[in-house]
Amino acid sequence: MKLILLGAPGAGKGTQAEVICERLAIPAISTGNIIREALKSGTEMGLRAKSYMEEGKLVPDEVVIGIIQDRLQQDDCKNGFILDGFPRTIPQAEALDKMGVAIDKVIDLEVSDEAIVERMSGRRVCENCGASYHILYKKPEVEGKCGKCGGALIQRKDDHPDTVRERLRVYHEQTEPLKSYYEKQGKLRVVQGQDAVEETTRLTLAALED
Ligand code: AMP
Repeated sequence: MKLILLGAPGAGKGTQAEVICERLAIPAISTGNIIREALKSGTEMGLRAKSYMEEGKLVPDEVVIGIIQDRLQQDDCKNGFILDGFPRTIPQAEALDKMGVAIDKVIDLEVSDEAIVERMSGRRVCENCGASYHILYKKPEVEGKCGKCGGALIQRKDDHPDTVRERLRVYHEQTEPLKSYYEKQGKLRVVQGQDAVEETTRLTLAALED
């Protein structure tokens, strides 16, 4: 199955992507994680993306389209994949279509802006593997430590309130139009994000059957 997870930054796409990835045994591909990795290892692409990312802006389309093109050619994508955080603009969605990638479903995770600002301030991510936690809603077993790889949990620079507001503005302006793009193709399934992660997961898995 070829899936897209759509939704505002902080809507919980990463967490749902992890669940679907295990359930369907297909890779979850996060352009945000790929860019953060590139930044850590200091590649040219990472350096190019750095300022956009830190200011809460989108990295230019041609950069992320190149990333996705390379990633989808890898062997583990043969039986499908979940795209988390791509596409984020209409030209990115059009590029996927042009690559001949036939998306089966687009899950749109809906969460209000106020809830997102509150969530983001409590979000912590593993600096090693990128797994996502929350100081109230998804606590790690050991405080400050990733349950998957033991890495340190940190707050992302772009999760600070001012940057979050900018990311939400960019989301409404550039990413939200994708909802009608995929609705017209009959692929959109809307999931209302819930306070309890397990409940959102239940709704997401039901939407996959729909
Ligand atoms: P994320 O982890 O998905 O919230 O992504 C973090 C940041 O990476 C975004 O705020 C953008 O700066 C950049 N980014 C990730 N995916 C994309 C994309 N598809 N298009 C443009 N920029 C992206």
